[in-house]
Amino acid sequence: MNMKLQTPVLDAGKLFSNYAKRLEKLEITTLKDFLYHLPTRYDDYSHVIAIANSKPGEVVTIQGTITEITNTYTRSRKQVQRATVTDETGTLSVIWFNQPYITKTLPFGTRVALSGRIESNNGAPTFAAPDFEIIPESGHTIHTGRLVPIYPETAGVSSKWLRRQVDKLLQTSYELTEFLPEESVKRLNLMNFEQAIHQIHFPTSIESAEKARERLGFDEIFLLQLANRKRKAEWQKNVLGHVFSIENFQKEIDKFWENLPFEPTGAQRRAIHEIFTDLTSSHAMNRLLEGDVGSGKTVVAAIAMYLSFLNSFQSVLMAPTEILANQHYQTIKNILEPLHVKIGLATGSKKLQLDTFDILVGTHAVLSNTIQYDRLGLVIIDEQHRFGVAQRSIIRGKGDNPHVLTMTATPIPRTVALTVYGDLELSVLDEMPKGRAEIKTWLVPNVKRNAGYQWIEEKMRKGDQAFIVCPFIEESESLTTIKAASSEFDRLKKSVFPDLKLGLLHGKMRPKEKESILESFRAGEIDILVATPVVEVGIDIPNATIILIEAAERFGLSQLHQLRGRVGRGDQQSFCLLFTENANPQTTERLKSLEHIHNGAELAELDLKLRGAGELYGTLQHGRKWLKIASFSDTLLLEKAKQEAGKLFPKLSQLPLLKQKIAEETISSVSPD
Ligand code: ADP
Ligand code: MG
Repeated sequence: MNMKLQTPVLDAGKLFSNYAKRLEKLEITTLKDFLYHLPTRYDDYSHVIAIANSKPGEVVTIQGTITEITNTYTRSRKQVQRATVTDETGTLSVIWFNQPYITKTLPFGTRVALSGRIESNNGAPTFAAPDFEIIPESGHTIHTGRLVPIYPETAGVSSKWLRRQVDKLLQTSYELTEFLPEESVKRLNLMNFEQAIHQIHFPTSIESAEKARERLGFDEIFLLQLANRKRKAEWQKNVLGHVFSIENFQKEIDKFWENLPFEPTGAQRRAIHEIFTDLTSSHAMNRLLEGDVGSGKTVVAAIAMYLSFLNSFQSVLMAPTEILANQHYQTIKNILEPLHVKIGLATGSKKLQLDTFDILVGTHAVLSNTIQYDRLGLVIIDEQHRFGVAQRSIIRGKGDNPHVLTMTATPIPRTVALTVYGDLELSVLDEMPKGRAEIKTWLVPNVKRNAGYQWIEEKMRKGDQAFIVCPFIEESESLTTIKAASSEFDRLKKSVFPDLKLGLLHGKMRPKEKESILESFRAGEIDILVATPVVEVGIDIPNATIILIEAAERFGLSQLHQLRGRVGRGDQQSFCLLFTENANPQTTERLKSLEHIHNGAELAELDLKLRGAGELYGTLQHGRKWLKIASFSDTLLLEKAKQEAGKLFPKLSQLPLLKQKIAEETISSVSPD
C-alpha cells in the first residue's frame, strides 16, 4: 500500500472505505488522519516474562504456544474458552468469556503473546481475558510486549483495529520527512518529526512518548503561527484600503457623542482610537474587537460606520441571527438616523426596502446577490465565530478591499487570542460602562431548588422577569435538546409556576415565532422565558433581572458568564442562580468562582487553567478544536513556537519543505475564524 498520506479514506481500498462513516466520527478522513489520531494513554505491557516467573497481580506479557484450547458451556449456557499456553519454563491456563471465535483464531500450536494482569486461581497463576496477539514470523508485535497505545474509539472502531492500521501505515509510509531546519530541531531540543510520529504511537518508553507529544504539539502551534503570519502578510500586501479622513469631520464626530446619553468608557475610547488609526492608514483594517457582554461594542461599531459614512463609503454590519440583526438595526437607527444616515435592514424574512443605503444591517442575507453595494468601505461582523471563512470572504468581495472589524463577546485569554487570531489586530474592551451593578450570583445546591423557585416567584410578583436556561445537552440544537427544553417548560408551567406566564424559546423556531415570543417578553406579557442554552447571546431585555441556569456544571465559566450577561442590562440589581445536581467539591469550587469573579477575561483565564482550552472553545467552531495536541495552558511551548515562527517566517522562501507543510495544514484544517 504505497498511497499518499493525503488519500481520503474512501479511496484507500475496501477495508478503509467500509469504515469511512465510523472513522468520520473520529475525524479521520484521510490516511494521514490516522497518524494524527493520537493515543490518550498506553497500556504498559512491556514487561515480558517466562511463565515460570508469573505472579498473581503483575501486569505482564508472556509468549508461548497454544497446547490446548476448547470452547465449553457453563450451566447458565454462557460460552467460555479455556486454553493452556506453554513455554520452555512451564504452562499457564487462560480463560476468555463469550469469544468462541478465539478457538479458531488461536488453534493448537499457535505461537501467541498474551498481555494483562496475572490472576490467582486458588493460588495458581492464570490469565483471565488477556489481550492476545499471534506472533508473526518477524516477531514484530503491536498489541503485546510493549507500551501499547489506547486511542479514542467509537462504535465498531477499537483501539486494536486502529493500532493495526497505524502500524501498517508506519511500515509503508515514506512521507514523514523532517520539515524543520536541522538547526532548529537541534537548538530547540525537539524530537525528529518522523521519529515523533513513530514514537507517539509505539513508544520505546514513556519519556520518549512525551518527547514525541511535545514535538507534535510544537508543530501544531508553530504551523498555526506561521499560517497566521502568512495571512497577515498577504492582507498587508493589499495596500490601498480606503484611507478615511478624520480631520475634516471633527465637528460631526463631536456631534455623535453629544447625541448619546453617556460618555465612552476609557476602553471604548482606546478601541475607537485604534480603529480610527487603522481606518486612516493605507492598509485595510483587519481587527478583532473583543469585549464582554454589555461592554458596549455596538457604539464602537456605530462610530466606525459613521466615519465611513462621513467619508462617503457604505458599511455593512452582519449579525449571526435575525434577532440580533433586528436589535442592532434598532440601536444603530437610534444613534445614527438623527445624524442623517440612511440605514437598511436585510434578513431572511425581511427584504431590503431601500434602493440606497449608507449602512446595511442584517444576517447573512446581506450577502445576497440582489443587494447592490456601491463603495463598500467597512465590514463589521458580530459574533464572528459563527460565520465561516467563506462568508467572510464573500462579504469582503462586495467591496474593493474594505476594512474589516470583527466583534466577539467570547472572552478569550490573550495568549489564546494571539495564537489563534494571530493574523488580526486586537482591541479589548476590558472596562464596563459606569453604574452597572454586578450581577449577584449564587450557586444553588439541589436541596435548595424549591426555595430558589419560591424566591423567583416572589420577585415575579413584584413585576420582574426571568430567564430559565435549560440544561446543555448537545453542542448543536438537536431534537434532543429541544425535547428536553419542551419537557422542562411543561414541568415548570404545570408544577412549579402554575400562576405565572411562561414562554419557550429555542433555536429551531421560525424567526417570526422567536421574534414574537421575544416581543411578548419585552412587553412584559411573559414573566419567565424558558430557553435553550444556544439561544441568542446578545438579546437585550432591560427588565429581565434574573437568570436561572440549569445543570451549570456542563458549561465553562466563560459560557456561564456570557449567559448571565443577558441580565443586568437595566438599572436594577440583577441575579444569576446557578443550579447543579453535581456535588463534586471541585465542580462546586469552580462554579462558586462566579459568585466573586465578575470579569470575563479573568474567568476565561481560570477556565483555561481548570478545563483547558479545547473543551472551552471546541464548541464554538462546529465542534472542531483549535488545538488537538498542544494545550493553551502550556505557555512555555506556546512561547517557544511563537519565537521560532518569528525567526523562520522571513526565511520561508528558503525552506521549501516547511512551506509545503504549511500549505498542507491550511488545506486540511478549517482556519480559525
Ligand atoms: P455589547 O454588544 O458589547 O454586549 P452593547 O453595545 O449592547 O454591549 O451595550 C450594552 C448597553 O450598554 C447598551 O444599552 C448601551 O447603550 C450601553 N452603553 C454602551 N456604552 C456605554 C457607556 N460608555 N456608558 C453607559 N452605557 C453604555
Ligand atoms: Mg452586542
